[in-house]
Amino acid sequence: MTHRLFARQLAKATKADGTLDVAALGALVSAAYDEADHDRSMTDRSIRLMTEELKARHNSLIESEARLSEQNRLFDAALSHMSHGLCMFDAELRLQVCNRRYLEMFGYSPDVVKPGVSLLDIYRYGASLGHYAGDDPEDLFAAARAERPELGRILLRRRLADDRTISMTLHPLADGRWVTTYEDVTDRLRADAKIAHMAMHDALTGLANRASFTAQLDFTIERARVTGDGFTLLCMDLDRFKEINDVFGHAAGDTLLRDLARRLTRACREAYLARVGGDEFMIVAPCTQASSIAALGRRLIEAAAQDVLFEGHRLKVGLSIGSATFPTDGADATALVANADAALYRAKADGRGRIRFFEPVMDLRLREKRDLQQDLQLALERGEFALHFQPQAAIGGEIVGFEALLRWIHPVRGLVPPATFIPVAEECGLILTIGEWVLREVCREAASWPRPLTVSVNISPVQLRHGDLVGAVHAALLETGLSPGRLELELDENTWGDDFSMTLSVLCRLKALGVRVSMDDFGAGYVALSYLQSFPFDKIKIGRAFVADMDRNGQSAAIVRSIAELGRGIGLDVWAQGIEKQSQAAFMADIACTGMQGHLVGRALPIGDYADVIGRPLPVRRKAG
Ligand code: C2E
Ligand code: MG
Repeated sequence: MTHRLFARQLAKATKADGTLDVAALGALVSAAYDEADHDRSMTDRSIRLMTEELKARHNSLIESEARLSEQNRLFDAALSHMSHGLCMFDAELRLQVCNRRYLEMFGYSPDVVKPGVSLLDIYRYGASLGHYAGDDPEDLFAAARAERPELGRILLRRRLADDRTISMTLHPLADGRWVTTYEDVTDRLRADAKIAHMAMHDALTGLANRASFTAQLDFTIERARVTGDGFTLLCMDLDRFKEINDVFGHAAGDTLLRDLARRLTRACREAYLARVGGDEFMIVAPCTQASSIAALGRRLIEAAAQDVLFEGHRLKVGLSIGSATFPTDGADATALVANADAALYRAKADGRGRIRFFEPVMDLRLREKRDLQQDLQLALERGEFALHFQPQAAIGGEIVGFEALLRWIHPVRGLVPPATFIPVAEECGLILTIGEWVLREVCREAASWPRPLTVSVNISPVQLRHGDLVGAVHAALLETGLSPGRLELELDENTWGDDFSMTLSVLCRLKALGVRVSMDDFGAGYVALSYLQSFPFDKIKIGRAFVADMDRNGQSAAIVRSIAELGRGIGLDVWAQGIEKQSQAAFMADIACTGMQGHLVGRALPIGDYADVIGRPLPVRRKAG
């Protein structure tokens, strides 16, 4: 019997007053029993089936619950071990859940910061721990409340009183809750700041570097154009710094630079100081008056002049300064730097350790010098150099050797005198390549002479200090087969420099090769006479200026006489240069000079012009007609 039929029969058995007709009910029950009996087996089966299904469902529920709890456990572990702090707040900003990292990050106790606590209370707690220097927790809370979820993810950064920076991200959920994440970005920010600092500062001295200087100069020019205020750029270079590096090593150079940077910083006061190269510094100073610039220059030069102690040595450098003022000496950065540089070049040429102000004529000279440098670079490969040879005679008149003198025959400039191009080649370092070429060519030439006359080569101080002079001489002799005893190297007084031991070592090694060494142009500078004894050279060549002056000035004659005596006294050959007149030659013979050189003996000419002297057969001339 279906449930509906049973209900209908039951309704029939119900009387109008609601009581049941017992007889009808009895019949109904009995009918139902009959039917129930009939269906029992069927029902039992379905109950069994249902029970089994329920059991299956129950098991699957238990399984999924286990899975869920495992998942929860994993989530919990993941949350606890996250590098970020994490919280969830309800729409009223009450904490629902937070992870361990969050509590650790802020030093919060889990007994205080626990589900149900409001964000305001968390802020108050944080303030009591000293997190928010000066920030009122109420204000912080009001700010958090004012955040609008519809605007999406919100990023905040908070600097705590202990100098840590916490980056916070607020993620709004659809139901009004917030998930917040916290990251301690202190180390990252410090690393970023360090990288940014390194990009703009010199690692050795901590001063601003070239990139920073360029930016500062551009900014200062922009500002000056608006305000109409001028400023001055100082270009500075250390004197003799390379020697300190060469002799005492780079650690000494570094110590000196660090110390110097500190002193220059103090001396330049409110001006901006940068180290833009090895020993090059720039200053942007807010003054334009010559007197103020000169005073600043003096302070800097004095600061640089102080000795620096390094492993028992007193290191000493000087400072040369060139200055150019904006806008009179240059209306843009390029012109200003170039002109301050031109003034610096002048300061060095005038004797170093001084400040020079830019003058327009310097610009012209600088441009000429640059043009010359560019041409010089090509001169070797284009074969524009030639050698001339000037004869050297013993005091009796017999030619015993030649001095090789370099000539540059420029396709447009014509014959450029060595006095013009040698200093330029020295300054840009080209003298090293040129000097090696001269050595090789001179040795090759002299080795080909039938008569074993001597030949002397002028050596620049730059070759002695910065090149491998001993190696170059050795290679030239080996390559050409010239006997070392026929080669003489002429070094002038500038060669000796400040580095006594280095010069002495190079000279001794040269002497060990078997070549002779002479002091050229003796008396032209202020070389200490003690050098004559200390360095192992063989000969002094009296400067041309003394010889030329002898006729007019009795003092010059006396000096030449005493140089000759002095030289002889310490066993050196004494030669006179620039002998043009018979009277000069006679004087030299009188004071017992060893030999002489000058127009009287012969001019510097291509070696072909002295073919008979070197013993080379003269070319046979065919008779005309
Ligand atoms: P220096 O070594 O003193 O050379 C002598 C200079 O005096 C030469 O000038 C020569 O031509 C000139 N001279 C010689 N006798 C007389 C004379 O009787 N009267 C006059 N008025 N002058 C005379 P030059 O060739 O112009 O060389 C000038 C300087 O250039 C040389 O002076 C030397 O310091 C330098 N120089 C020349 N060739 C080389 C080179 O290959 N390497 C280096 N480093 N320097 C060189
Ligand atoms: Mg010479």
